[in-house]
Amino acid sequence: MAKTALITGASGGIGRAIALRLAKDGFSLALVYNNSQRKAVELLEELGCEAKLYKCDVKSAHEVNNTVNAVLADFGEISVLVNNAGIAQQKLFTDITDEDWQNMIATNLSGAFYFSRAVLHDMIKRKSGKIINIASVWGETGASCEVHYSAAKAGLIGMTKALAKEVGLSGISVNAVSPGVIKTDMLKAFTADDLEALREEIPLNRLGEAEDVADAVAFLAGENADYMTGHVLSVNGGMVI
Ligand code: NAP
Repeated sequence: MAKTALITGASGGIGRAIALRLAKDGFSLALVYNNSQRKAVELLEELGCEAKLYKCDVKSAHEVNNTVNAVLADFGEISVLVNNAGIAQQKLFTDITDEDWQNMIATNLSGAFYFSRAVLHDMIKRKSGKIINIASVWGETGASCEVHYSAAKAGLIGMTKALAKEVGLSGISVNAVSPGVIKTDMLKAFTADDLEALREEIPLNRLGEAEDVADAVAFLAGENADYMTGHVLSVNGGMVI
């Protein structure tokens, strides 16, 4: 029987690439989207594997629990959870509102907490499973005008390392992939000049593709990474070493 991977943010650029890559590796897929139903349906039609869509706002623990229960009912088990859903925002620190802050933490950090907690009941029972969190280079280094985003992603890295220690004895690994600047809709707030300036800071001399991140996720999801946990795998073209 094919292993099942649950991917949040599957309707976005990186999530889509992860889905296509894991499908190639033989996974069945539970694909979570929130607002972008059309993109999710297009992805489902493109995939040549067993797959199903689930609408869920990762900010809601209730919706997350219902989604995980539905996936378990449909697929029997969840072998790999990819916490990929996220939002970004560029603002001066003093302009960040309470709502901006709550929204950023709820989406990028609490969402991963809710999904990890919900899938772990089954993973611990089976003494097997992998959780992969999509962090960010800004969570490693901090970014000016993205303090709330950097804080949420740094929190996700902390959660990755701490949870890895807690669930290792249950046969479960928890790792993160930390992308640099990746060409998806998330970059649409940046001008061409901004992107060119970022490219100049990257030793490998190009912005990343969603597929670069997907390859790293596929590695962590596969058997070749079975002895890795608590690791943050950077995919940033050498931007931060
Ligand atoms: P994207 O194309 O904008 O996709 C974002 C995804 O997150 C969408 O599928 C969106 O779903 C989902 N999402 C957002 N809020 C949600 C919510 N409340 N509930 C459920 N899903 C929600 O961005 P991306 O570049 O693929 O980003 C994917 C991940 O990579 C994010 O965690 C991001 O922080 C991280 N990352 C990206 C970059 C980059 O340069 N692109 C760099 C470092 C890290 P709907 O559209 O269906 O609502």
